[in-house]
Amino acid sequence: MACTWESLVEECNACTRCALCETRTNVVVGRGCPHAPILFVGEGPGRQEDEQGLPFVGQAGGLLDLACEGLGFATDDYYIANVVKCRPPENRTPFEEECTACLGFLRAQFSLIKPRIVVCLGNVPLHYLIDKNARITQARGQWVQRKGVWFTATYHPAALLRDESKKLDFWKDLRAVREKLQDIQNGGV
Ligand code: SF4
Repeated sequence: MACTWESLVEECNACTRCALCETRTNVVVGRGCPHAPILFVGEGPGRQEDEQGLPFVGQAGGLLDLACEGLGFATDDYYIANVVKCRPPENRTPFEEECTACLGFLRAQFSLIKPRIVVCLGNVPLHYLIDKNARITQARGQWVQRKGVWFTATYHPAALLRDESKKLDFWKDLRAVREKLQDIQNGGV
């Protein structure tokens, strides 16, 4: 697996490990600071992300950036990636075999970024990174520490577009992420 950003991007762009390669326009590797303390992980690219080759650039991504800005995150505080790097047709949930095929790239990103906090956005990253049996409605806002890295989960911002009542919890969860980051930067955890 790739050990530099250049080789990672090259490997992703050439990848045919799952059927999603057949329908993608672009491979969507990630965006943000390559040494950020926070790694946000979503599910997979949507239509605009597939067209532009960047994650979270549509309406849902705008909501995430707005929330981060509103809570005082600096742009180099975070990096955003997805469990699968190619768009599932019609934005369906990626199949297990697609997630499994792609997870090596996320692991490589994790090794390069070395985040202190990982925030799972929605059920798919929650299942692959924290607990395969958890549900986002119950697991959101909870924290688990593994090998010095803090993992938490909140709603995928696309869920807020479908159900505005989730916005307050999403905001609370991100505020807790901000506080955790401050604790880490102050040497508290
Ligand atoms: S989703 Fe991941 S594993 Fe599947 S083709 Fe794209 S980069 Fe490869």
